[in-house]
Amino acid sequence: MKTRSVERQEKPYRPLNEVTRSQKEFECHDVDGTIVGFCFPDFTQGLNVPGYHLHFLSKDRKAGGHILDCIMTRGTLFLDHTSNFHMELPKRKEFLDADLAKDTRDAVDEAETCRSRRAL
Ligand SMILES: [Zn+2]
Repeated sequence: MKTRSVERQEKPYRPLNEVTRSQKEFECHDVDGTIVGFCFPDFTQGLNVPGYHLHFLSKDRKAGGHILDCIMTRGTLFLDHTSNFHMELPKRKEFLDADLAKDTRDAVDEAETCRSRRAL
């Protein structure tokens, strides 16, 4: 299991790809735990990150984070297909004034790629 975590962020918040450049990456082997997450379809680009977004928490709760890579040898999978999604947006001026129209795909790709893969 390979996961990442970023440091707690303070205002002014930096873009995700900038924050993840200094992320901490963790690797553990032969560990039991729980994986939870979402899989958003491609048409949600702009509202969320299309594809799988999974987090891990070890059974002993001593390891976890955003999953960068994993090999699962056994487990039980529960799927919940849903046709609705509720999203609440902030009403604060900072959010309303933010430039959210720009294409963030490259920044998201950079943020979602683990450091060892970036080096290849
Ligand atoms: Zn995450």
